[in-house]
Amino acid sequence: MDNTINLLNRKKIIKCPTCGKEAKNNSLPFCSPHCSHIDLGKWFNGTYSVPTFEDPDGSEIIRLNDEE
Ligand SMILES: [Zn+2]
Repeated sequence: MDNTINLLNRKKIIKCPTCGKEAKNNSLPFCSPHCSHIDLGKWFNGTYSVPTFEDPDGSEIIRLNDEE
């Protein structure tokens, strides 16, 4: 029963996905614009693995390199 009160009283803390620090209101969900940019960079670099040009066997990467 007391858990409900504790949840209400507890401040909701959002951790910065980039560095894990507490996020600030002016740059949520990141602690700073700097970390926001870092996160964007991860997306572009494919770190989050959603946009990928890589075939499971790697043949696609080899073909892209040959085109340069
Ligand atoms: Zn951060």
